Amino acid sequence: MPQGLITIRGVVQGVGFRPFVYAEAVRLGLRGTVKNLGSEVEVRAAGERFDELVASLRRGPPLARIDSVDVSALDGPVPGGFAILPSAEGARTGLIPPDVATCDRCLSDIEDPASRYFGYWATSCVDCGPRYSIILDLPYDRPRTSMDAFPLCGGCRAEFTDPGSRRHHAQTIACPGCGPHLALYDADGRAIRTENPIAETAALLDQERIVAIKGIGGFHIACVEEAAVRLKERLGRHEQPFAVMARSDQIEAMAVLSDVDRAALRSMERPIVVLEKRDPTAHAALSNLHTIGVMLPYTGIHHLLFERLAHPILVMTSANSPGYPMVTGLDRAFAALAGVADFYLAHDRRIMNRCDDSVVRGGHLIRLSRGYAPLRTAIDLGPSCILGVGPELSANATIYRDGHAVTSPHVGNVRNPETLAYLVETIGKLGDWLGARYDAVAHDLHPQFL
Ligand SMILES: [Zn+2]
Ligand SMILES: [Zn+2]
Repeated sequence: MPQGLITIRGVVQGVGFRPFVYAEAVRLGLRGTVKNLGSEVEVRAAGERFDELVASLRRGPPLARIDSVDVSALDGPVPGGFAILPSAEGARTGLIPPDVATCDRCLSDIEDPASRYFGYWATSCVDCGPRYSIILDLPYDRPRTSMDAFPLCGGCRAEFTDPGSRRHHAQTIACPGCGPHLALYDADGRAIRTENPIAETAALLDQERIVAIKGIGGFHIACVEEAAVRLKERLGRHEQPFAVMARSDQIEAMAVLSDVDRAALRSMERPIVVLEKRDPTAHAALSNLHTIGVMLPYTGIHHLLFERLAHPILVMTSANSPGYPMVTGLDRAFAALAGVADFYLAHDRRIMNRCDDSVVRGGHLIRLSRGYAPLRTAIDLGPSCILGVGPELSANATIYRDGHAVTSPHVGNVRNPETLAYLVETIGKLGDWLGARYDAVAHDLHPQFL
């Protein structure tokens, strides 16, 4: 009977790879095991349709990015049945997948009164939800993410262990009973008693109040168009164009879109897309340019907010000065946004890795961050391990090792000590995850580059 040891490399953790292998193996009648090993996935399998399994592993589940599938000989017998085994330490050649938008099936769950996820903002599955922003270390398993603070309830555990569920081994699984919660705070940091913090936030926004909202990779400052001028005054940034979040019909009414723009807007990465306004003088409070940066709702919070909001457009600007790191913690938000935000809507899932919104223009990435980063590029630069950093005013870091370059999210202007510290922290984390030992550093050649 054909059998073998299969090693899959690439972005293969946090993408539902093990449940995918399990489902395929059961479908093909194979015996064996699958586990995360370092940053790779290792499969031991035996059965008449072994070759079909290998072929389907080369395709993988939707979020996976597969570099290689190697098959080698397997000594000894393979036990009966098929099992997902606990993760083990091993080679670190791959990387963590980025944070992606809530998928359509999870959105249906959120909108379904019969679902146990009805109205729950942190609903996710193996195909969607936070990843990079919650990870402490590899291999990607719940105990090494900030979801470790939320032990699974019986219902979530049942889905987590059910091979027929799309939340089988979904490390971010959570429900209103056991998962993270939202709370609303006033400008002085006092919690506001409310049954539904999102509905309350929508009402406050409709009343033209300014609300800081904790998202996937940091805080945004949100307000309706009528409050945008007041927000600029409070920020002391009168000329700064704001990125906005809106429903797609509103975006079509406001700006000219190509098919490439539409595809970027609706992609699972959900970047800010820079578009030409239909009327260059319209929406001047949002942007005094002929262009405007727009994005669609991409988290459960956004979708639930827009369900309740009477206004069609929200300013959704990062809660930081341009070039500075995005604010991620609630206490930091209270301090940094004093005098700016009237209210704070925050959840209790810790952001381990900051990640600002990405920006796309004309189909090209002009700021690489949430949804895309860490970005893994196959490229052969030889046997050396190389760290790349720069440019000074808009820095990020890239680590090259063993045929792959991994690029960090956008970091910012590293002339600011705070942003420089964030760059150093980002390099430290990515370097650890990749097991990097640098032979060379490539950097901005500007004589004053730090
Ligand atoms: Zn989903
Ligand atoms: Zn639960």
